[in-house]
Amino acid sequence: MADDDHYRRWTAQVERAGHCVRPVRLIGSAMTVNAATGEIDATYSSLEEPGGVLLVACKDRRESVCPPCAARYRADAWHVFAGGVTPAENGSDDGDTDDRLPHPMVLATFTAPSFGTVHAARDGKVCRTARGGRRGRRTCEHGRPLWCDARHSPGDGMVGAPLCEDCADLAGLVLWNAHVGELWRRTVIYVYRALAALAPSVGGQPVTVRKIRELLRLSYAKVAEFQKRGVVHLHVLARLDGVNPDCPDQLAPPPAWAGVDLLTAALAYAAHRVSVPLPVVDGRTAAVARWGTQLDVRPVQPREIDRARVAGYLAKYATKTVSDSVSGLPASRPRADERDLEEGRALPAHVAALTQTVRRLARLGTCRALRLARHVHTLGFRGHVTSKSRRYSTTFAALREARRAWRLARRARERDPWAQRDEGNSGMATVMVGDWRVTGIGYHTLGDRVLAEVLGREHRQAREAWRLGLTE
Ligand SMILES: [Zn+2]
Ligand SMILES: [Zn+2]
Ligand SMILES: [Zn+2]
Repeated sequence: MADDDHYRRWTAQVERAGHCVRPVRLIGSAMTVNAATGEIDATYSSLEEPGGVLLVACKDRRESVCPPCAARYRADAWHVFAGGVTPAENGSDDGDTDDRLPHPMVLATFTAPSFGTVHAARDGKVCRTARGGRRGRRTCEHGRPLWCDARHSPGDGMVGAPLCEDCADLAGLVLWNAHVGELWRRTVIYVYRALAALAPSVGGQPVTVRKIRELLRLSYAKVAEFQKRGVVHLHVLARLDGVNPDCPDQLAPPPAWAGVDLLTAALAYAAHRVSVPLPVVDGRTAAVARWGTQLDVRPVQPREIDRARVAGYLAKYATKTVSDSVSGLPASRPRADERDLEEGRALPAHVAALTQTVRRLARLGTCRALRLARHVHTLGFRGHVTSKSRRYSTTFAALREARRAWRLARRARERDPWAQRDEGNSGMATVMVGDWRVTGIGYHTLGDRVLAEVLGREHRQAREAWRLGLTE
């Protein structure tokens, strides 16, 4: 801050890195070369920066790791989810779109089954009342009470812990987490079977699954949310599309008989019937993973208010990790030299029991294919938090590319030689050559970090004020 030029350069870097709280520190240099003539247009070296270091955003998805980068990810996720709620064709206003049917769409929550009764926070109410009052105060076979008179707050470490750890099916819970991705994949297959079974017959002939795939497509976006008890739920935005055989990528409206009721019924049919066989563990044969009995399906209208609401609802979960729900777990997989995450961590007893269960299963031959040792910190869950079917809406990559193109266009207007770069086919063959090395993560000094946080806060407040001014 003592040096005007240094301070300006440093704040510009922090701003470019989106006020990231743990930026990647790079040293190195780059140049742009005219491919036709071999002439060097511009050169840049991190030595020009204060401390000789270039700061780049960590781009982490997780709120608990980097709030500013997670905010950007969440905003992207919002667009990915919202983009599918109002399909582009409905947005066109050439007057004759009124007779088009909106795509039936629902927000469905697929829950996990019970793996044993757990302590719960119930807005100041008693955790578990004994059925039949005092007389109903029974104990389990291990002599532990089957009720709990406590009133837990949501932050209470007990919330999510089983009433009796020996009664709880911890291995079943971990295996369920490990198979939820496969369970969803099979659910989609079952949805098509259900659609075929429920569709009106064509010319007196029942509709086959093959035929239904030529008529209808299930598009979806989904987010996995960890419950306090350590098990995953799926929030799914599901939409029925028609199929245009000549142009499969085009979004076609479904036939008139394929409405919200059909989609809801098909999801319920699939959720109740689908299962995944589980590996043999502890001598239990023929065990399967199924969805819990609670399936919540709500229709989503193609209105701006619904679109904003459901996209915001899902985007909120997109930046969460298991560590936000289950206390004591790390946000990311521990490095090889700090593998034992139970050691030196204040893990609540029931969480430690779960991580130890993952380790125990990881050593079993029947579970080898699951590679559970890599998923101890997610309690066996192996998938991505956010995913979508191919034709649901736009992609994260497309959003990033749009942002990059906008940035380059703005800088090109400022005659920035670095914005001349073009990998496209416009004939402007400028090539960028760089040589970069990571020297560390995070700000160099605490002072830098505090200053970056202050700048970030000011930036967010200014943007919020701008947004309010725009919408009022
Ligand atoms: Zn960051
Ligand atoms: Zn309790
Ligand atoms: Zn028990």
